[in-house]
Amino acid sequence: MGLFSKIKAGLKKTSSGFLEKVGSVLSTFTKIDEELFEELEETLILCDIGAQTSLKICDVLRQKVKEERITDPALIRTALKDIIFEMLDGNNTIDLSGSPTVIMVIGVNGVGKTTSIGKMAAQFKAQGKQVVLGAADTFRAAAIEQLEIWANRAGVHMVKSVEGTDPASVVFDTMASAKAKNADVIICDTAGRLHNKKNLMDELAKMNRVIDRSIGDGRKETLLVLDAATGQNAVNQARQFSEVTDITGIILTKLDGTAHGGVVISIMDELKIPVKLVGVGEQIDDLMPFNAREFAEGLFGEE
Ligand code: GDP
Ligand code: GDP
Ligand code: MG
Repeated sequence: MGLFSKIKAGLKKTSSGFLEKVGSVLSTFTKIDEELFEELEETLILCDIGAQTSLKICDVLRQKVKEERITDPALIRTALKDIIFEMLDGNNTIDLSGSPTVIMVIGVNGVGKTTSIGKMAAQFKAQGKQVVLGAADTFRAAAIEQLEIWANRAGVHMVKSVEGTDPASVVFDTMASAKAKNADVIICDTAGRLHNKKNLMDELAKMNRVIDRSIGDGRKETLLVLDAATGQNAVNQARQFSEVTDITGIILTKLDGTAHGGVVISIMDELKIPVKLVGVGEQIDDLMPFNAREFAEGLFGEE
């Protein structure tokens, strides 16, 4: 995709809003004073970065300006980019070294769970992994069919049952099939659920118990899928889910269609949950590993 990576292309809408807003603050001021920091803080909040994180960014920036004796407001841009990069840099990769690695994919309805599973399956297979999918969203027949289409597209095996089956029993069958096939990676689709629906959270706990019993020396990842277009609401979802279940990473989808990409910074700073993958479109190769450097550069519109 040329010099401009897919993440950067996916960030275009976020980036143009960010540059416009932040750029206009920095160009209005001729010297760096308290008023500039205050205006910048408000602007960052408008860019979906969240109040707590925006405050923190400005505090670090004040410190940096002092230490590095920055006097030109135009130079704040680079300092800001470095601060944001550091906030994003963390444990951003999905570790597939487990034998097997079991990935549970959870989140509310319509965020892109099934689509992201299809994309992951194709990528892991291309890396030489033996992948098995479990259609544990048994709530609607269409959900099973949708995952099946993706399994065929990616060329991986899928375990399914009929609509209305206990999802934990599908997970059980998936684990057994994966063991027989000596699979490396197992990915389970789940029905859209809200953190506050007790029966659905109990159902999730039951699926987790089934995995824990049969995973042996393997590793489990629980990925929460969030739709970037929902802005700060995505941060709230992450906060609420993390209170009821252990989340090891986030897949942030639909970055391509939104100006709300700044939520990544809030999620990583406030919740300390690493964003591991980002969705930048509906095609099979539109899922990218999250890269802090590319994201920070993309936000500032740099190639
Ligand atoms: P689920 O209910 O969480 O399983 O969500 P689905 O996987 O069914 O996706 C819901 C819709 O979002 C579908 O129309 C997908 O094509 C779309 N979608 C998923 N990920 C992305 C993405 O990264 N970008 C865009 N533009 N659309 C996406
Ligand atoms: P309500 O109208 O808010 O009480 O809930 P709905 O019945 O509309 O369900 C909302 C979503 O939660 C559905 O689309 C499902 O994805 C999920 N859901 C609801 N009940 C169940 C259930 O018993 N099992 C599973 N797996 N998902 C459910
Ligand atoms: Mg789905």
